[in-house]
Amino acid sequence: MMRTIGLIGGMSWESSAEYYRLLNEEVRRRRGGHHCARSLMLTVDFAEVEAMQRAGDWAAAGRLLVRAARTLQEGGAELVLLCTNTMHRVAGEIEAAIEVPFVHIVDATAERITAAGVTTAGLLGTRFTMEMEFYRDRMRGHGIELLVPHEPDRTLVHDVIYRELTRNRIEESSRAAYRRVIADLAARGARGVILGCTEITLLVGPEDSPVPVFDSTRIHVERAVDLALASPGA
Ligand code: GLU
Repeated sequence: MMRTIGLIGGMSWESSAEYYRLLNEEVRRRRGGHHCARSLMLTVDFAEVEAMQRAGDWAAAGRLLVRAARTLQEGGAELVLLCTNTMHRVAGEIEAAIEVPFVHIVDATAERITAAGVTTAGLLGTRFTMEMEFYRDRMRGHGIELLVPHEPDRTLVHDVIYRELTRNRIEESSRAAYRRVIADLAARGARGVILGCTEITLLVGPEDSPVPVFDSTRIHVERAVDLALASPGA
């Protein structure tokens, strides 16, 4: 028994490719043999979404992603993942529009952070994720306080995502800059750091941080696999 996982991808495809690989690896790890994840991915055009973000038109972005989620559900998805932290700004609209479970990236990440005994975590993500209330409030609901980089480092973190990571570019100089930003967050009291953008895992990992790293992409995937493989009624 395995539920079909629906993925709203393309934000950006660089991270969606990572979701796809991790999802299949995780099912193989747990089930062995030739097992892989039953899944559907609907890839949106990131240029459209990015333009809506810049224009602050979250309502239009919400409608686009609601359509994607419904299409996945109609295609047989039994749970839905939105493969980006930033667009969880419109998670409420998506969740309300489908009948199958929506796996929220903040809830999954928060549960892992809590299990590690961490209550103050540094957050790296897009400017929207670091500065808007939706992420901070949801984490606070789980009892987790967030520290974000000060300026100009927030701009640096944001620009690396949009100029490099979502354009399939990995730069050594940016890895060094992220390491420094992570070290600053740890020095300010962060007991862990959240890779709160689904491409950041392509640039840095646990080896780049003096405190535990919570990779939202991997955690989201593992949560989805837990649900996909859970026995009925679990
Ligand atoms: N994938 C990124 C995130 O997790 C950024 C791209 C986007 O804006 O959706 O936030």
